[in-house]
Amino acid sequence: MKLLRLSLTLAAAAVPLFASAQSDSLSDTNMNTAADLSNPLIQEWDTLHGIPPFALIKDDHFREAMEAGFELQRAEVKAIIENPGDPTFSNTIEALELSGALIERTFRIFGNLTGTDTNSNLDALELEMSPRNSQRKDEIYLNEDLFQRVSAVYEARDELDLDQEQHRLLELTYRDFVRAGAAVPVESRARLTELNAQLAVLSARFGQNLREETKVFEMVIVDGADLSGLPSDVIAAARETARKRGHNDAWVFGLDRSSFEAFMAHAESRQLRRQLFDAYRSRAAHENDTDNQKILLEMARLRAERARLLGFETHADYQLATRMAKSPDSAEKFLLQVWKPGLARAQEELRDMRELAVRDGIDELSPWDWWYYAERVREQKFTLDTDQLKPFFELSQVRDGAFYAANRLFGVSFQRLEDVPVWNPDVQAFEVRGPEDELIGIFMADYYARDSKSGGAWMNTYRNASDVGREIRPIVTNNLNLIKPPEGQPTLLSFDEVRTLFHEFGHGLQGLLTTVRYERFSGTSGLPRDYVELCSQVMEHWAQEPEMLQVYARDYRSGEVIPDDLIANIGAAATFNQGFMTTEYVAASLLDLAWHTMTVEEAENVDDARAFEVEVLNGYGLLPEIEPRYRSPYFSHIFAGGYSAGYYAYLWAEILDADAFTAFKDSGDIFNPELAGRFKTYIMEAGGREEPEILYRKFRGKDPDIQPLLRIRGLADKVDTG
Ligand SMILES: [Zn+2]
Repeated sequence: MKLLRLSLTLAAAAVPLFASAQSDSLSDTNMNTAADLSNPLIQEWDTLHGIPPFALIKDDHFREAMEAGFELQRAEVKAIIENPGDPTFSNTIEALELSGALIERTFRIFGNLTGTDTNSNLDALELEMSPRNSQRKDEIYLNEDLFQRVSAVYEARDELDLDQEQHRLLELTYRDFVRAGAAVPVESRARLTELNAQLAVLSARFGQNLREETKVFEMVIVDGADLSGLPSDVIAAARETARKRGHNDAWVFGLDRSSFEAFMAHAESRQLRRQLFDAYRSRAAHENDTDNQKILLEMARLRAERARLLGFETHADYQLATRMAKSPDSAEKFLLQVWKPGLARAQEELRDMRELAVRDGIDELSPWDWWYYAERVREQKFTLDTDQLKPFFELSQVRDGAFYAANRLFGVSFQRLEDVPVWNPDVQAFEVRGPEDELIGIFMADYYARDSKSGGAWMNTYRNASDVGREIRPIVTNNLNLIKPPEGQPTLLSFDEVRTLFHEFGHGLQGLLTTVRYERFSGTSGLPRDYVELCSQVMEHWAQEPEMLQVYARDYRSGEVIPDDLIANIGAAATFNQGFMTTEYVAASLLDLAWHTMTVEEAENVDDARAFEVEVLNGYGLLPEIEPRYRSPYFSHIFAGGYSAGYYAYLWAEILDADAFTAFKDSGDIFNPELAGRFKTYIMEAGGREEPEILYRKFRGKDPDIQPLLRIRGLADKVDTG
């Protein structure tokens, strides 16, 4: 059989991918149907920089491209196995790394679209295809003949003439096989495959249920008096939402995070705050078709069972084995190091708030009061209110601020591309170029919320970087969920939203700047969860530096630079409410570990998700006034995303980002060229080429220290209070 090699990087010709192949070899792969040639997903694209031709891609194209992709990779893998020559790095490890280009590309586009602009067709296809995709991987990793070839190359690794990156590719490929179960006894493999497929479906269903539950809820306000306390832009956005949803003379508040937080912090009506809060925290727990409680119980059980088959005591042990933290114990120990000072600080914050609440006739604060009274304390302490600050943070200026930081630190420039395909009219595309005008990649920003989009903020890619034979530069996306203002109005960000924009931009930069040879190591893909947040979180520090604010924080009406007293307030407010923020975050992280440090027997004994959650959190001493940042039924990071037994990772990575940024601060120059150069080389460009500990040490010249984290959060003085 003649193997058809896909090359997805071709720029110029708008020819079908298979046009150059002999027609008889097309028939070998059963793909010579007429439809193939009109399906844009199976073709090369003549779009600028190979950006997917979104307008041409119809929902129906995905199934066909997925089937073709499955088939093609099967043929590629078969060719590797049937290669008559002895297994070598090139004919086995590298060949495997390069296989599956069509299927990977198709799922990448599909995943991006279901996350940002989904519909019922795509949702149904996701449920159908996610188990097939998981089976595809099992077909590779549980293939005995293939594992034998991989093992043979691995055994001979010290005699092979491999460079550092090849060596790491070999080691990680071998490790992938072992972790996927290649060494599991044959009689258990069918069960393993079954578990993977079931978990893939449950996870997809979890995410869809949550999107649906978030979408359908609306709190309709008809009496203007109920809006009292809310900032004008929040009111305007609620008016617009009401209009779009067909409510006349009303205001509608939903459960997207921005709208929720704004309402909780400002609405004077305690009763409505409670109503919205209850709606938020009971999402996907209504014992209806979109309830996630049974799904997550099932997932916890199946994950425990899979871990046991793979030779681990629990799912967390399995997950953490390849992360920086190494074990659930060390992750928990670390969390508790921050949890205790966080709780002590939260108690102090509670005291400050009680004084104000008592004046309003409230003796006992409830979780739906925290945001509101924290905001009142903030105003009192820092004379800082949202309406006063927001005009300085207009979306395009904040984005340009992020571009400016990237330029000063890493020498890259961003140029808007007007006429390239986008998946939604709100998306903006940019060409990114380096100091020598060389192409770095494409950056696509999708900043607004919509019903067809998942909540939260994230970075993703349409294409990763690689350089095998031919250099391919990445196409990177950033997604936020900002409330879109009425036509003609500016988009004004809260400072939290500013930080989020810089955060995702940091991930984006790592995806863009990467210079690795193999896609496996490019940018953020494949990095350990507790390391991948370094590049994102470190950028948040620049967002609030006075030197940066003077550049990008300008009143959108007058161009006036943000005044010094507001800058000072932003700095002082950085440690404000950190007791609460630390506590709600660590509570969710501990909950995540609790779900995933159960043995099979333990997991089988849990039949009430809420009761389990309460018991765990009470056990750690969570205050009754604070909810965990996520209750389990909407904890999509761990049940629908890639963060299971890994939500702690953000705080873990904060050890690194706080320590890294401290290096810049201590040098007296936040754009210190020498440090920025090392950060670019060893962190941004290197991706996953080496172990994170090694790369970090190369950048910093030493191991990271936890003190900067505690200091920056304002918790350092609470460490010994228990
Ligand atoms: Zn992140």
